[in-house]
Amino acid sequence: MKEIILIKNGELALKGLNRSVFEDTLIRNLKTSLKDCGEFVIRKAQSTIYIEPQNDTFNFDEALERVSKVFGIAAFSRSRVCEKNMESILKTAPEYLADTLKSIKTFKVEAKRADKRFPFTSPQISAKVGGAILSAFPHLRVDVHNPDEIITVEVRDYAAYIRAGQLQGAGGLPVGTAGKASILISGGIDSPVAAWTMAKRGLKLDAIHFASPPYTSPRAEQKVKTLLSKVALYSGTIKLAIVPFTEIQEEIANKCPEEYFTLIMRRMMMRIAEKIAVYHKSGALITGESLGQVASQTLPGIAVTDSVTQIPVLRPLIGSDKEEIIKISRKIDAFETSCLPYEDCCTVFTPKHPKTRPTIPLCEEAESKLNIEELIKKAIEETEYVFID
Ligand code: ATP
Ligand code: MG
Repeated sequence: MKEIILIKNGELALKGLNRSVFEDTLIRNLKTSLKDCGEFVIRKAQSTIYIEPQNDTFNFDEALERVSKVFGIAAFSRSRVCEKNMESILKTAPEYLADTLKSIKTFKVEAKRADKRFPFTSPQISAKVGGAILSAFPHLRVDVHNPDEIITVEVRDYAAYIRAGQLQGAGGLPVGTAGKASILISGGIDSPVAAWTMAKRGLKLDAIHFASPPYTSPRAEQKVKTLLSKVALYSGTIKLAIVPFTEIQEEIANKCPEEYFTLIMRRMMMRIAEKIAVYHKSGALITGESLGQVASQTLPGIAVTDSVTQIPVLRPLIGSDKEEIIKISRKIDAFETSCLPYEDCCTVFTPKHPKTRPTIPLCEEAESKLNIEELIKKAIEETEYVFID
């Protein structure tokens, strides 16, 4: 029995984007994502992508799970290929769908005739297939308004395709079609969600993490890697830069006024992140900031961190409530990991009374005793890279 996975592109998203770049990138991403599910061929025709297994060892369930995480897909389904003649369609539909049809009470058939030379119209195909199903499963009833299951028959160029229902795709744009950006990743709830949100809009991801051993432990670093591996199921492989931040934090603690610790630390993070991002050809930074969530995420706080960088800083969660962020965090299976109680470099040197209305000149004054260029240079030289997939 020959089955395939049939994929519908996110059509609306194609507007204004070069369609073949969109489709080719999507196919490349699908190939990577399914590479260990077995042997298969991918073909595209008429805004549909066909994944055709080449033998019985293809792992369909795993493949469908993977496809559900590939951005740029509106809907997908497991479908039966059948010869393009009415006799074959009428025989195959009740046989192939038997398990589904036994377990439901009502159905309707939707036929789509992409090949206009096929000698029956769509309504005729629907009526005939409906009739064949009713005589094979007399307990069933047709309900065109609210059926338990929609049976679809598509007649296309080379064959007909039969399926029950279809699954919703991950939406968004294929990763890579929007370029690349670097996510500043902590071990918290917000930054993995911010990363996922931007990958959904077609950005390939690099990641940057600031670690402050021994104040932060190897467990905290492992947590970040685990979080990125959850995101990578959607975004593909992520190159992670681990930046040693201990010396910088100690310098700040020794030489700057306490109420500015967090702001200066964030300014240092942004400066370093920008240099690493530009060097690796990322077009923007991404953070998990949400307006008003903590003292450094007020408008004046954002203004003083923004002022040290030139490239765009994307903050996809800026208008999201914590509840909305947690919902996505759970959906991408990151929440439990994010909640593990390991220390983050931000929490180690938190001032008791953070500066409430910071300005750029006040921050510059507060950090004036630091040798900023030297500290940045050393941190970048000692940065280590790992690939997460
Ligand atoms: P998160 O849940 O993402 O940790 P948060 O609400 O705890 O966010 P902050 O700790 O103020 O907020 O951090 C704001 C943003 O700064 C984070 O979303 C992340 O993008 C970045 N960030 C914070 N700490 C680090 C770190 N150790 N390494 C890299 N980026 C960081
Ligand atoms: Mg945090």
